[in-house]
Formats: sequence, structure tokens, C-alpha cells
Amino acid sequence: MTRVAFIGLGRMGHGMAARYLDAGFTLSVWNRSRTKAEDLIARGARWATSPEDAADDADAVVTMVADDQASRAVWLSRDGAAAAMKAGTLAIECSTVSYQHALDVSRELRHRGLVYIDSPVTGLPDAAAAGKLTLLVGADAADLELARPYLAPLSSTIRHFGAVGSGTVYKLINNLMGAIQIAGVAEGLAIAEQAGLDMKLVLEALETGVAASPQVIRHSKRMVARDFSGATFTAALRHKDAAYAVALAESLLSAAPIMGRAAVEAYDRAKAYAPDDDEGKLIEIVSRGKGSAT
Ligand code: NAP
Repeated sequence: MTRVAFIGLGRMGHGMAARYLDAGFTLSVWNRSRTKAEDLIARGARWATSPEDAADDADAVVTMVADDQASRAVWLSRDGAAAAMKAGTLAIECSTVSYQHALDVSRELRHRGLVYIDSPVTGLPDAAAAGKLTLLVGADAADLELARPYLAPLSSTIRHFGAVGSGTVYKLINNLMGAIQIAGVAEGLAIAEQAGLDMKLVLEALETGVAASPQVIRHSKRMVARDFSGATFTAALRHKDAAYAVALAESLLSAAPIMGRAAVEAYDRAKAYAPDDDEGKLIEIVSRGKGSAT
């Protein structure tokens, strides 16, 4: 039986880990807080006492944690997964990390004889639990072939962008464009509200107009209703992704005005306001209007 270690059981990781049980893999799991693992343990997953313990004897280790700092901790700290992985074991990073971090961790793991691929994802937690994510892969072609059986439970849609790090580049530009759009929606709707427009009509016009995109449609409805229930992507994560993307933009686009900087600034404030709430709450900050306290 094929053995997978899954590390990081948050909104996304929990459903992804469950997919390995559904597919008949032998699964060990670790999360910083154990409570999120209980139902997986009840279904037969082995609870590991550390990422190192989880990775012991695994054929592939998959991580889905918040950011660079968490990723470094679970791969490379003293009881990190790399401490137990045998040469040739697959290291699959599904977390959204910075480009530089993906390159750095790849280099350090390869130095230990491990096979690293970056495979950040698009799709919300319901897609994660249903095995319907889109996987954005950066890997040598031969390494991707080795990884395919371990990616299959997560998705049948694999986009291979090129060498290690390239999946992360695509993920960051995707989320930077999302951040700019969502911040733009908050600003546009706040203007319409302050100007006294009929917001039902504004929503109808937006949905059928040229500015519509899946992001615009989804967030505009929730923002106008001030309905942020069922948060799937937090202000803190949106800020993190936009900041990583702007760092990449600054390294590649020396002459351009970098619009993502304004989105980072907006999400910095949304994060300070309610870090673990839905990213759409940005409208509550933007709509305070002129002269309001921040
Ligand atoms: P989440 O629910 O906040 O989960 C974050 C996970 O990271 C949890 O398992 C958390 O452990 C762990 N973690 C955080 N800091 C850590 C640290 N210092 N050491 C060890 N573990 C740490 O986030 P999520 O929505 O599942 O997102 C996970 C990743 O997927 C992120 O990189 C995100 O950008 C990306 N992503 C999310 C979505 C989405 O719609 N939510 C979509 C695509 C990609 P605890 O449980 O103990 O806090």
C-alpha cells in the first residue's frame, strides 16, 4: 500500500488529507493542533507526534500550511519532515509560499537527496474535499511523473508550468490579480453606496457588465449584503499572497507602477481589522468614508 504523510489540516488540508483515505492510501497526519485530525484518526489515519514522525517511512510527504514560516518549520526544523525522509522520497509543497522560499526549500531538500515539487492549488475548501482542485505544478518532467500517483487523489487537473518554482509563480500572479480585483470591488461598491445608488441595480449591472469576473460576481454580492458567512479565504492569507506576489513583481518589473502594492496596503488593514475573517470584509474598512476613524 502506498504511504503518504500529510501535514497541515486547515480548511484546505483537512479535505485534501481525507482524499488519501478515500483512495486507500496508508496515511499519517500531523497538524499543529491535534483536534483537526480527530475524524481522520477515527477513519484510520495514524496521528504523528511531529512532522518528522509523520514522514517516517512515507513514500511522499504533502504539506498544506499557511505561509513560508510554517512551511520552513514543517520541512526543515529539528523535528521537521526532512529529518526522517529517505533519499528519493517525494516532497510535495501544496501551500502557497513565496517564490524565493520555494527555491530555497527545494535546494535544501534536493541537497538531502529528496525530490521536491511545488504544487500550489486553486479551488476553495469544498473543491479540496471533493478532489477537484487545480494543481499548479513546478517540477522536472520526470519528477512530475513520479508524483502523479500522489497528486491523483487531489485532482485530475494538473497544469505543469515548468521547473521547480514555476507553479508558485503562476499561483502568486493568479492571487495578486484576485487581490487587486477584490480590493477594486470593495472600492467601487463603497463609492456607489456613499453616492446613494440602488445597490440591487448596481449588482445586476455588474454581473452582466464587462467588469464581471467570477471574483467580482462572488465578492460583490457578499459585500453588498455584508454577508461574510462561510469564510473560505481569510484576510491574513490574501495579504500574505499579495505581499509574496509584490516581492516577485519588484524583482522582475523595475520600470512598472506595481498596482499590487495598493492591494497589499488594503489587505494589511483588513488583516489588522479581522485577520481570520473573510477577505471580503475589506468593504467594511473602505466604506467608512471620508473623515471616519480607521
Ligand atoms: P488555514 O485554515 O488557516 O490553515 C492553515 C494551516 O497551517 C493549519 O493547519 C495551521 O495549523 C498551519 N500552520 C499555520 N502556522 C503554522 C506554523 N507556524 N507551524 C505549523 N503549522 C502552521 O488555511 P487554509 O485556507 O487551509 O490555507 C492553507 C494554504 O492553502 C495557504 O498557503 C493558503 O494560501 C492556500 N490556499 C487556500 C485556499 C482557500 O480557499 N482557503 C485556496 C487555495 C490555496 P493550526 O490548525 O494548528 O492552526
